[in-house]
Amino acid sequence: MEKSKRESADVIVIGSGIGGLTAAALLQERGFSTLVFEKNRFPGGSCSSFRRGGYTFDAGASVFYGFSEESKSGTLNLHTKIFRKLGIVVNTIPDPVQIHFHLPNGLSVPAWYDREVFLDTLATRFPHEAGGIRKFYDELEDVYRILSALPAGSLEDITHLGSVGLNNPLKTVSLAMKTFRSMGRTARKFISDRELLRFIDMEAYSWALQDAVSTPLVNAGICLADRHHGGINYPVGGSGAIPAALCTGIEKFGGTVRFQSEVSSILLEDGAACGVRLADGSEHFAKVIVSNATIWDTFNRLVPDRRFRVAETRFLRAPSWFQLYLGVDSSVIPDNFYVHHILVEQWENFNQSGGTIYFSAPSLLDPSLAPPGKHTIHAFVTSEAEEWEGFTRGSDEYREAKESLASSVISRTERILPGLSQAVELKVLASPLTHERYLNRHKGSYGPLLKPGQNILQKPQNTTPVKNLFAAGDSTFPGQGVIAVTYSGVSCASRIARILGKPLDYLS
Ligand SMILES: Cc1cc2nc3c(=O)[nH]c(=O)nc-3n(C[C@H](O)[C@H](O)[C@H](O)COP(=O)(O)OP(=O)(O)OC[C@H]3O[C@@H](n4cnc5c(N)ncnc54)[C@H](O)[C@@H]3O)c2cc1C
Repeated sequence: MEKSKRESADVIVIGSGIGGLTAAALLQERGFSTLVFEKNRFPGGSCSSFRRGGYTFDAGASVFYGFSEESKSGTLNLHTKIFRKLGIVVNTIPDPVQIHFHLPNGLSVPAWYDREVFLDTLATRFPHEAGGIRKFYDELEDVYRILSALPAGSLEDITHLGSVGLNNPLKTVSLAMKTFRSMGRTARKFISDRELLRFIDMEAYSWALQDAVSTPLVNAGICLADRHHGGINYPVGGSGAIPAALCTGIEKFGGTVRFQSEVSSILLEDGAACGVRLADGSEHFAKVIVSNATIWDTFNRLVPDRRFRVAETRFLRAPSWFQLYLGVDSSVIPDNFYVHHILVEQWENFNQSGGTIYFSAPSLLDPSLAPPGKHTIHAFVTSEAEEWEGFTRGSDEYREAKESLASSVISRTERILPGLSQAVELKVLASPLTHERYLNRHKGSYGPLLKPGQNILQKPQNTTPVKNLFAAGDSTFPGQGVIAVTYSGVSCASRIARILGKPLDYLS
């Protein structure tokens, strides 16, 4: 593809989150030149790793789908397919339990990789709902089966939609119908036990930050069925291994990822995006710009034309996080302790700020993440940026507020890890302000969520109202989660490649 004289690349990508890197890697492999600008010194955004005091911590994500070798898996197992296409190996370690839920009233449910063991665990606790449990999870399995048969592409691409519809008419119609259904309403068709329905709420909340009624059935079908097929697999070396491998892929095919390069604005010419200006004042031009920033940051900070502003009220703004990264003595972790946990003490406040504790200890899977005799722990609770905005960074008050919240999270976690407070040897604390500052995410938010009742197809796709400006990442369809933003990167690359005249092959 011919570049004009002033163009640095065919495609400029703003941000090296998983959505942006995936789009760049696939386009670069297809022969388009790509240039990624990342403000940090490292790639991956919410899916990066950092080292401190001999420990390697996952900054955010640590439960990973998409790494199975299952060959006939359509839209699923995207990591395997993308790294196969790039010719890059990412070694992973299988995790037998997705999440161990510790809920009120002694309800303790490990979400096992083995589907039958998982369904039996639930049926043992709720024998009167055994039939309903199976029917509900079979509905999710149905979504999984359909998605496994349909190739990944852009829902804005008529050629792709036409080909998928012609080759799989029944599955396509069935999937389209399911986009109107909610996970929680589907559960209520088969289940009436209130405690079990609350467990199903937690299943949704664990990644969607919404209860089951507000969560689309299709999203649930991906995560809660695929865990029993592809399973949960942890990348050796930590979550940062995924973006590092994508960067290697981009560079292997001749693309560039430039770190410590913050984009301060998107350049428009006759209303169309044509380049970016960096914080150092330099300008870079391309045929197409992809923003991996959130929809609020893209249109309310980077696009200078105020006509494109996105009202805060267009979506629900998910909360941000208060996070603890702990290095601990390994003696505090009992035998047979699973890697990922969710703790709720009271149903009344599971979805309130700080109400649910997320907890993971990935060095149980990959001991190289911690010094000998130690483990890494990542614990986090939801928190709103507004709760922290009155503090000055570096001040004693800010430090004390963080220490105080951290102590409370640690002491609540002692319910599953007695003695944790005594075992902590290293502690790094991050408030929503940290999340906002590091990742340029508006209010440090987990991202925009659909309002209850909105169809999942109402999530923005990759095309934006600004000509030549595309979007990838968790502000776009299908939403939050590493595998979801990977899909958004695939669909964004597919859309751009088609428009630029060299369509991508389907991933296999
Ligand atoms: C605490 C936490 C736990 C999570 N746990 C899981 C989990 O277990 N499993 C899972 O699947 N998902 C999990 N997620 C969600 C998942 O990590 C995210 O949905 C996903 O990584 C978001 O990817 P993204 O492509 O949208 O971009 P982001 O991760 O937001 O990355 C965007 C990148 O763009 C850069 N950037 C932004 N603006 C600019 C600019 N102007 N110039 C240059 N660079 C810029 C940022 O620095 C960043 O590197 C978790 C998230 C968090 C926060």
